[in-house]
Amino acid sequence: MNLLTFAAVMSVVNLVLYNIPFFTFVWQSSQSELPGKLLLTVCFVLVMIVANFMACYLVMFLMRYVGRVLIALCHLLSATCVFFIYKYNNFMDETMIGNVFNTRYSEASGFMTWQLALFIVVFGVIPAVYVLTQKVNYGSWKRFGASVGSSILIVAILIVVNANQVLWIGKYDTELGGRLMPWSYIVNTVRFYNANHQKQKEEIKLPDATIADQEKTAVVLVIGESARKANFSLYGYGRNTNPKLSQQEGLLVYPAVSGDTYTTAGTKCILEYKATGDLYEILPNYLNRAGVDVSWRTSNWGEPPVHISEYLTEDSLVARYPGVNRKYDEILFTGLRQRIESSGKNKVLIVLHTSTNHGPCYSSKYPKEFEVFKPVCVNVENAKDSIPELVNAYDNSVLYVDHLLNGLIDTLRTVQGWNCAMLFVSDHGESLGENDLFMHGVPMKIAPAVQYEIPFLVWTTPGFRTPKKINQTIDQHYVFHTVLNLLSVQSPVYDAEHDLFQKP
Ligand SMILES: [Zn+2]
Repeated sequence: MNLLTFAAVMSVVNLVLYNIPFFTFVWQSSQSELPGKLLLTVCFVLVMIVANFMACYLVMFLMRYVGRVLIALCHLLSATCVFFIYKYNNFMDETMIGNVFNTRYSEASGFMTWQLALFIVVFGVIPAVYVLTQKVNYGSWKRFGASVGSSILIVAILIVVNANQVLWIGKYDTELGGRLMPWSYIVNTVRFYNANHQKQKEEIKLPDATIADQEKTAVVLVIGESARKANFSLYGYGRNTNPKLSQQEGLLVYPAVSGDTYTTAGTKCILEYKATGDLYEILPNYLNRAGVDVSWRTSNWGEPPVHISEYLTEDSLVARYPGVNRKYDEILFTGLRQRIESSGKNKVLIVLHTSTNHGPCYSSKYPKEFEVFKPVCVNVENAKDSIPELVNAYDNSVLYVDHLLNGLIDTLRTVQGWNCAMLFVSDHGESLGENDLFMHGVPMKIAPAVQYEIPFLVWTTPGFRTPKKINQTIDQHYVFHTVLNLLSVQSPVYDAEHDLFQKP
């Protein structure tokens, strides 16, 4: 087969196998009448065929066998992406690529299903094997020049013809780009690495802080994972998912929104003093430098770099508390009273970075006795066909959070000689099948409210601090300034507007 034919076949195969979601989106989102819609779609089809033909021709002609391997790899990746687009209505924008690179095996394995494997074999492996084995006559430089030149010309003409669609494309660039195979993940992987490279720069130090008094004070900041406000009965959810916390006296319940819809951004927002594109010293690092005894316990990941001496993962917690059940988040809540009372300092901050409400397998995140709402969906493959079961599993995971936080408050009540406080703030919300969306990570400008409306719960030792009257929805930056106040830390960046309590 000559390269011309081969590239044409590849281009058509790419369109048919991997770009149906792209064209479905084009068709559904175009506001034109039928003829305009048809013209737009046909032009997109032509541009895609010609542009991908050209790309394939270029890569194969210039790189020969290496080019084949790259194209084969693209088939595997495109098949995987398209599966997730069909299954979860995701799309591969820069954020999603970031989530892919930040995901641990334990979470990713929740997505590994037979259905996915079969899909990859049929739509990825078989085309890839064809690419690697088909004999190709590469042709001359002259033919190469003619093919690439005429392709560029055709694409240019089509772009000129559709110049009036620029506004429409601009409006949906994220959604279109995220469905365009294979360019969505290629371009966004490059973008992600560029952005990450920028972020790796040293954190910017905040001006020095000082501790104003010698009172013994401990704050436990619990960072929730994918906890959404809508499913907490404290916020009016019809099911009693907070039977214990609703009985806790003095619990403060604030309506709140997250700064973004994915873990790395949401966690950064909780820990930074205000929204900036830069990485400023985050709360634990800052307080550690100011002389506070800071401990971080995590069953999660994705937070900005934490520079403190006590950073405890599940492994280090098991080593410290032999016999504790490491399967669930209760491991993070173990031994807190002793940890506070034995501190050599008067000010203690303990951060618990939990993972309880994280999908896709909600039912694996809580012990069996919390399976109150039944039946539950245990297999993510069924999620789409059994939303009520998915919600049941999610609600059980909220029950477990209710239990953990309630236990924490009860523990803090018993810490002798210390004023204590607990803050629970989720990193972002979650979609449970509404509008065919699952999980989280939809870009903020188009995200549904359930992905950013979060629970924000606070409790303190009675009489410790007086809460202000807050009438509006609050954001995650309240954490930073409230914790400064609770620990009597004086800082030039302290912002009373973002403090839930009056100063003592
Ligand atoms: Zn998260």
